[in-house]
Amino acid sequence: MNAHNTMKEGAEAPFYLPQGDECAIFEAAAAADLPVLLKGPTGCGKTRFVAHMAARLGRPLYTVACHDDLSAADLIGRYLLKGGETVWVDGPLTRAVREGAICYLDEVVEARKDVTVVLHPLTDDRRILPIDRTGEELEATPGFMLVASYNPGYQNILKTLKPSTRQRFVAMEFDFPRPEHEVPVVVRESGLSEDLVRNLVRLANKLRGLKGQDLEEGVSTRLVVYAATLIKNGMKLERAIETAMIEPLSDDADVKRGLRDLVTAIF
Ligand code: ADP
Repeated sequence: MNAHNTMKEGAEAPFYLPQGDECAIFEAAAAADLPVLLKGPTGCGKTRFVAHMAARLGRPLYTVACHDDLSAADLIGRYLLKGGETVWVDGPLTRAVREGAICYLDEVVEARKDVTVVLHPLTDDRRILPIDRTGEELEATPGFMLVASYNPGYQNILKTLKPSTRQRFVAMEFDFPRPEHEVPVVVRESGLSEDLVRNLVRLANKLRGLKGQDLEEGVSTRLVVYAATLIKNGMKLERAIETAMIEPLSDDADVKRGLRDLVTAIF
């Protein structure tokens, strides 16, 4: 299972540059025991934000990258055979409920339908997790918080959250940082000089302008950080841009040619 407690005790909060009042909103939701939904494109800072807030609040964090095979049992736990004995092993959600931790379900719409059923009693004022297999009904320990993210941009009408689920969360919209935020983020993450980063961010915003025409998704901040890191580590600028900001976006030769024209216009 691809989940673990991603916070080390006493560790410094991971760097996160706020775009607005998202930290205050998250803190208010945490104080009021409300679940939070983060909406936004991939690679715009949602996961980093949750890691930062968990550290600030001093709560352990369990992060689960959801996929189309992820079931309720993966989150809750299951009986496993250990040395000839059958033992119950908690899943990440159950661990978070017991420990008063934050459970972050990244790309929650990808998960199987039975996952949402589990989330409902946890996201209303009962805050309980029924575990059918053991007959337990766990009451969430104070500090437990459910955070989920999804990308409303994917053009898949089937993969959206039902109103009955989404209306249980306080929701915040995320987007790629504005240049005055993205430049310092990329400089800090990569160590590359501000002049070069500024041009990479200009290019990123031009590429984002093509979303919906030639591209399904604009280039993420994550990819800009990759390009900047490769350049910082000695890769030639053109090669770094090609591998981190062009190839990941499209497989279509014509589209890629169009993207390269934008690169020549800027560099
Ligand atoms: P998401 O969860 O939205 O897919 P991530 O949180 O993994 O995206 O963000 C991708 C990368 O972008 C991070 O690893 C970090 O380097 C950078 N990043 C984006 N926004 C910020 C921000 N506001 N502060 C710090 N780093 C950021």
